[in-house]
Amino acid sequence: MAKIDDSLVQRYALREKILAALCQHLKKTKPQAGDTLQRLKRHLLHTSSRAPEMLLDIMLTEQKSESNLALLLLEQMESAAVKRRMQELFRDPKLTERQRAKLATLKALQEEQEETSLGEISVHNSVIGNLLEITELIWSRLEDEEIGLLWLEDYFHLPIEEKWTLVRFFLDRGERFYLPIIRLELATQDSEGVRYILEKLQNFVYPETVILLEQWAEHSEVAVRICAQSVLARVRKVLRKRRHEISASPTYPFYKAYVGEDALAGQFGVVYAVRSDAGFIKFCSVLIDSWDRGIVDCWGDVGKKAKEFASIVRALDKEIEQFSYQKADSRYALYLLHEGVRLATKRGYPLPNEFRVWRPLIEQQPYQPCNYGVTFGLACLECGNWIRFEQEKESVWVLGQVALCATCVSQKSQCEHCGGPLVVADAYALVNPSSDHVEVICKRCFSRTKRKEKPRSQ
Ligand SMILES: [Zn+2]
Ligand SMILES: [Zn+2]
Repeated sequence: MAKIDDSLVQRYALREKILAALCQHLKKTKPQAGDTLQRLKRHLLHTSSRAPEMLLDIMLTEQKSESNLALLLLEQMESAAVKRRMQELFRDPKLTERQRAKLATLKALQEEQEETSLGEISVHNSVIGNLLEITELIWSRLEDEEIGLLWLEDYFHLPIEEKWTLVRFFLDRGERFYLPIIRLELATQDSEGVRYILEKLQNFVYPETVILLEQWAEHSEVAVRICAQSVLARVRKVLRKRRHEISASPTYPFYKAYVGEDALAGQFGVVYAVRSDAGFIKFCSVLIDSWDRGIVDCWGDVGKKAKEFASIVRALDKEIEQFSYQKADSRYALYLLHEGVRLATKRGYPLPNEFRVWRPLIEQQPYQPCNYGVTFGLACLECGNWIRFEQEKESVWVLGQVALCATCVSQKSQCEHCGGPLVVADAYALVNPSSDHVEVICKRCFSRTKRKEKPRSQ
C-alpha cells in the first residue's frame, strides 16, 4: 500500500499550534514582558525544532499583532533554515510589498549591530514603520514605569534635536503608553516646547492625561497655565463623551508601605508598594527632605513576588544606616509623599526624573489630605525667610523644630546676657518655640545659668 505523504498535514497542524500559542500570549493583558516572551520562545522551540520556520510563515501571512509577535520572536532565534528561506523569499517575485517590508524589518533587527543594506531594498519607510510597530508591540506590554525607565536610560539624555523626531511621532500617535515618556520630556522643555507638547496632549484622551494636565494647569507661567487649562477642558469634554469606551489603565491596590525617619536631619525614607491581581508587586522607594527640598531621590521596580519584595525591603533597611524602616499605613506614607511633592513645587526644586517615572503610582492611590504634624519646609524663626540648605549649608542653625537662617545667625555678635562680644561657634542658643526670637548667650553666661538652675531643679 502506498504511504500517504502527510508532511503537509503535520506542517499545517504545527503552524496552527504555534499560532494558537501566539494568540494566547497576546490575549494576556500586561504580562511581565521580557520574561513571558522568553518563556514563549522556549515553549515554541520545545514544541518543535521547526517552530522558527512556522513563525516566518506566520509573520508573512497573519494579522498585524500575530505577525509582529512572530517577528519579535524570530529576531531572538538563531535558525539557519530561516536565513536560507529568507534569501529565497527575497528573490520571490510573488512577494507583496508588505511582505517584503516585513522581511527587511526582520533582517534589519537581526543585523542590528552590523551595517544594514536597507537602501538596496528600497522599502526604507515601510521598514521604519514596521520597526515602530514592533516597538509599540513591546511597549504596549510593558508597565508604564518600565517604559519611563527605558526612556530615561536610553534617550532622555540625548540632545533635543536627536530625539525630537521621535517625541513628535509619539505625540501624533496618541497611544497611552507614550504618556510616561511625555511626562519626562515635558520636564526638560523650555516654555515654548512645553506648550507644543501640551497642545498635542489632546491626542491622548485618557483619564491619566487629565491628571497630568491638571498639574500643568497650576504652573507659575501664565502662558503655560492657560495652554494647559484649555487642553484640559478639551480632553475632559471628549473623555465625557467617550467615557464608555475609555477606561483608566488598571490601578493596582495598595500592598504595603514602610517609613524610616531621621528626625535630626528632617529626612524620611518611604517605600510604597502596590500589587496586581496576578500577585505582582510594583514599588517605589523615595527619599524625602522635609526641611527644604521635598523629594530628593527615588527608585523602584516592577514584577516582584511577595518574597522578593520582602527581601528587597530587608536589604534596603540594612543598607541605609540612616533609617530603620517600619511598616506604616498607606495614609501616612501618602501624606509624606504628597507633602514632599508640595514642598518641592512650592520652593521651585525640580523633581528628580526617576520620581517623575514613579509619581503616577502614588497619584493613582486614593488620598484624602491629612496632617500628621510633620513640619514641611523650615523657615527662619526670626526673619521668616525659607531656609535653603543648598545655599546656606552649615551656617544654618536647626534647634529642634526651630531654625535660624545664616543671615540671622551672622548677626548674633553680642551675648544677650552680659553684652560681651560673641563668637558664633562658641555661642549657646536658648530656644522658646512660642517666641519669635532665639536668645544667644556666651559660654560664661551659659555655665552660670546652669549653675544657678541646678539647685532649683534638685
Ligand atoms: Zn533669618
Ligand atoms: Zn554673656
